[in-house]
Amino acid sequence: MRLRNIQGARDTIAESPLVIHEPEKAKGNWRELFGNSNPIRIEIGMGKGKFIHELAGRNPGINYVGIEKYSSVLLRALQKMDEEMRENLLFIRMEAEDIGEVFAPGEVDRIYLNFSDPWPKDRHAKRRLPSKEFLARYDRILKKDGILEFKTDNRELFEFALEELPEAGWKADFVTYDLHRDGEKMKSNIMTEYEEKFSLKGNPIYKYEIKR
Ligand code: SAH
Repeated sequence: MRLRNIQGARDTIAESPLVIHEPEKAKGNWRELFGNSNPIRIEIGMGKGKFIHELAGRNPGINYVGIEKYSSVLLRALQKMDEEMRENLLFIRMEAEDIGEVFAPGEVDRIYLNFSDPWPKDRHAKRRLPSKEFLARYDRILKKDGILEFKTDNRELFEFALEELPEAGWKADFVTYDLHRDGEKMKSNIMTEYEEKFSLKGNPIYKYEIKR
């Protein structure tokens, strides 16, 4: 089944109160939207939402926003909310490039990138979510001292992501080339859909946590 063609995904999303339909209007107003002043953490390219749904369940005192560009995939995250509602989780269907239109400077407390698309061709480097171009966008919305966490099983993408840091003005706080062998970090690790799939195949999982 090709996810992209799920019938009615767009209609279901258009009707969902869990999806913020005009996110530019939410810019600077996310606290009002959630109805409290808890910190706001976002996952960009969340896919079917397993990670953020579980994270929101574990941390009711933090608000979460899941961002995904494809309706058919976002639909899966909405279905998880039907099964188990999270009051502290909302969604946006959008292209991550426009993230600065949706969150005000410093409005975001933490950013998660999990198994981002590798865009292996050099000429597409700017489309990679951990590229310096995207780091500049995150810099605008992430609070001072805020952390960005990135996990992947793609070695080339991970090395590229590390190389981008100095020029973009970020530094690594934590780096591992084998997350699943780090007992301390694994205590709080939540597996994403891709992480389950690729770690089962025996791929090591790379992770960094970065700051400015
Ligand atoms: N984070 C999930 C899914 C990884 S696949 C997991 O770890 O299991 C990458 C996801 O990011 C896909 O669902 C893709 O549609 C989404 N994505 C990729 N580029 C994006 C962009 N520029 N803006 C928004 N979503 C994007």
